Amino acid sequence: MTETQSSQIAQLPVMGEAAQQSYPTATLYVVATPIGNVTDITLRALHVLLLADVVACEDTRKTGTLLTRFGLNKQMIAAHQHNEREVAEKLVTRLRAGERVALVSDAGTPAVSDPGARIVDAVRDAGLNVVPVPGSSAAIAALSASGLVNDRFYFVGFLPAKTKQRESELATLKAVPATLVFYEAPHRITDCVESLVAAFEPTRQVVFARELTKLFEEIHRCPLADALAWVKADANRERGEFVVLVEGAQTEDDEGDVEAERVLRILLEECSVKQAAALAAQITGKKKNALYERALQIKGTD
Ligand code: SAM
Repeated sequence: MTETQSSQIAQLPVMGEAAQQSYPTATLYVVATPIGNVTDITLRALHVLLLADVVACEDTRKTGTLLTRFGLNKQMIAAHQHNEREVAEKLVTRLRAGERVALVSDAGTPAVSDPGARIVDAVRDAGLNVVPVPGSSAAIAALSASGLVNDRFYFVGFLPAKTKQRESELATLKAVPATLVFYEAPHRITDCVESLVAAFEPTRQVVFARELTKLFEEIHRCPLADALAWVKADANRERGEFVVLVEGAQTEDDEGDVEAERVLRILLEECSVKQAAALAAQITGKKKNALYERALQIKGTD
């Protein structure tokens, strides 16, 4: 680290807060980096990168470019899916010698559909400290902007490239009552959507989050029945990076709610709010108070 590097970053007024925290030595820092927009890096990530003795990264050219954008010139060590175990040993030695090691991937959060988990495992096994420095993740960004109302999500990541394997994996997900989160490469998006259409009900909502945080960012939501037409409507859609979200399976409770709503609406045509709620509760077994509140809402919006 040169003096110019540290002074440039240190000049940011809020950097003081990042600097006040403690950054122990002999620690592996798992640092999230941007998924497209370089300014999505966190101040804490910058501070850790500034302090790090070495940066373990998937691709030294890509990470070198990122570090240069922030005026940093660091020693890097390549840590990718083909050498993670060997590199882990080297990093453990360096950590034992008291260094701070930053682990990054090409984009987003390391170890999430990216290399890193084996290194973290080895460092933990060696009894050394691991600290996450959270930031961008394509899955979380897509979920946050999807409008799919479900507190639960199930991260699948990449589906198998082979059709048969993909289909059998999707079959295991059919009854999962959580939003399903898939990562997909652009050249496989059509195959992926064809398999989704074959696996799930056509009424399920699907969200395509393409090129998040980049110039041609696109977030599209539609029923699964319309998904293939959307992908094929523009040749550009077979380029760029995708997160695909699929609405989870309806639970018995959801189905019961839909039925209760249907019954309540019919009864409200003929009865008072109080009567409709009482009768709907008897018919569907749902709670009278909740149905009463819902009936008031329906009446209020009519
Ligand atoms: N570790 C990363 C994370 O935290 O999201 C994921 C890395 S994984 C190798 C790459 C996949 O993540 C892409 O194929 C795509 O599915 C998704 N992805 C990454 N960046 C994205 C972006 N800007 N927009 C949409 N999807 C993205």
